[in-house]
Amino acid sequence: MYYLEIGDLMVHEVPQNGKRLYICDVCSLSYEERSWADKCEDYCTKHHACSLEITRHATQMRS
Ligand SMILES: [Zn+2]
Repeated sequence: MYYLEIGDLMVHEVPQNGKRLYICDVCSLSYEERSWADKCEDYCTKHHACSLEITRHATQMRS
């Protein structure tokens, strides 16, 4: 598992089915695009809640 520093935020990057997913460190939702994970974490950190506008871009983790 890697840690990416994006400003003050930390978004997890995890390999998944040959792709990479980016996980919001606050709400643990995963995104295929780092920009969404970054937005999510930024929103979650500031508002202590998720934005539906952002979380609808999240991917379902399948196990
Ligand atoms: Zn989040």
